Amino acid sequence: MRGAGKGRRLVSLGGWCGPGLMLSKLGLRAPEDQYPFDVVRATLDGVVHFTGNGFGPEFFPPGPLPYKMDPASIWLLFRGPHTCFTHMDLNRKQVLDEFQWRFNNWSELMSGKRGPVVFLRTSLCENPFMEAGLLPMWEEAVTAKSKGALDFKTVLIVHNQGSETVQVAAPTANSSVWNLALYTTVLPTASLFDRTEVGYRTIISAVSDEQCWAPDRSLSAAPTECLNTSLELATVEGVPAMGGTCKGIGSTASVAVGRCVFCGSSDQHAVVDPTTFDTHKSWSEEDRAMLLATFAGTSDIVATCEAIALQQGRSAHEVLTEFRKLTSG
Ligand SMILES: [Zn+2]
Repeated sequence: MRGAGKGRRLVSLGGWCGPGLMLSKLGLRAPEDQYPFDVVRATLDGVVHFTGNGFGPEFFPPGPLPYKMDPASIWLLFRGPHTCFTHMDLNRKQVLDEFQWRFNNWSELMSGKRGPVVFLRTSLCENPFMEAGLLPMWEEAVTAKSKGALDFKTVLIVHNQGSETVQVAAPTANSSVWNLALYTTVLPTASLFDRTEVGYRTIISAVSDEQCWAPDRSLSAAPTECLNTSLELATVEGVPAMGGTCKGIGSTASVAVGRCVFCGSSDQHAVVDPTTFDTHKSWSEEDRAMLLATFAGTSDIVATCEAIALQQGRSAHEVLTEFRKLTSG
């Protein structure tokens, strides 16, 4: 099966999990279409780096195992220089094995054997248009990796740069930049997925039609000016998602110079005070029993910790700290 029945497979290049989730929701993602960037936030320069150089240890947080978890509100993050893993326990063998499978799928995709592709990427950069400048480099990396065998197009989606979901620029012959207008008639507490669903449907439908890629697209190569900057995807509750950058771009440059090219951080934007989000509410005997029982029934620390934090209105850090206190010695 291929996406949209138009002959081009639709593949998420991430930014966040939204594009991949929408493809699944629309029934446009075949079971084998699971790739590394669907489920991991990664800078676009990081994506280019991994495409050219393969998925080395730097895809993951600094080793050795077990990888360190960084608490951010109710979440536990695993942060590499270019990547951020959320909602998954990277210290489980099964999760690492699944990544190996995703890497293999990526290799096959890059060989061209899976046929022509439209990549869907959501910019996670503070100024989302900045990723547009990397599109020529991305195209070069794919062409080199696939030795020209992969026929591909790339859609870069920027959130909230205008009131219409519409194509706003064509930086290269085979790429386009789309503004996704956030859906505003839903509750302000609605998730990002709720607010972007209509926009993703519109874009996915449009770019599945080859007409959308006509050579006479009368669009400028350069995107228009950024209207709304956002750190919604580059950070998690104020914690930089990717260790190498606090702006969602430039992690490869930061690695090269040994510090963040934006703020100068040389410690991968370490979480200075993990207790920041702690509520310091006392634990009743009942709470403690529930905590132990819930952890006893699972091997996924991350999902369990986040679920309890959400349910109890506590931080992930204090849930994990209490669990460790109860089970130590
Ligand atoms: Zn920084």
